[in-house]
Amino acid sequence: MRFPAWCSVPLLVLCCWMVATLTGAALAEEKPAVTDEQPTVAKEPLPYPQDALEPVISSFTLGFHHGKHYAGYVAKANELLQGSPLAGKPLAEIVQATAADPAQKALFNNAAQAWNHAFYFRCLKPKAGGKPTGKLAKLIDESFGSFEAFTGKLLEAGKGQFGSGWAWVVLDGDKLQIVATANAETPLTTGKKPVLVLDVWEHAYYLDYQNRRADHLQQVINQLVDWEFVASNL
Ligand code: MN
Repeated sequence: MRFPAWCSVPLLVLCCWMVATLTGAALAEEKPAVTDEQPTVAKEPLPYPQDALEPVISSFTLGFHHGKHYAGYVAKANELLQGSPLAGKPLAEIVQATAADPAQKALFNNAAQAWNHAFYFRCLKPKAGGKPTGKLAKLIDESFGSFEAFTGKLLEAGKGQFGSGWAWVVLDGDKLQIVATANAETPLTTGKKPVLVLDVWEHAYYLDYQNRRADHLQQVINQLVDWEFVASNL
């Protein structure tokens, strides 16, 4: 195909304009975000595919939970850390350093929720559940009498938490304990070692179970708790 000679100048101008525009766009995309620090809080990937916990937790629920709620806490924590002396510190340290400071409440809430959620997603595994073995099984028997008594107490803690929060199993000295916390509160700030957590915020179950929090928790305990991961936290 041949263009008449009078086309060549406008064509050349058009080409130059396109090259300049595309190069400009590419350069603009490469520019880093305007921040003082690199992000402190990493967004941990889901340790399994988004649909792997079905039918107990749907892909729809997990997509929102990990992709929107958890991601939102991580993004907000990083935003609040810009220019803060805590930027660059490990996440657990940020949570502990801000817990008792009312002026740092927003940072504490978002940093603690980032930590709690990363831990929560790791506590679950597709086709898990069953019963723990070895040292963890022995510790559960010593602390609660039996596995059934233990899971009953854990379920009660989750059911009984009024409003949003978490049901935890923690190591306190040489015994396990079950504690519930409200909102973003976490045992990280109490010197007790978290070994398992269940999320009882409505966003964790409402799309699948609506108001049936206890049903959700029972199914999670029966089918999804990764007891090997729990044992690794002792
Ligand atoms: Mn949650």
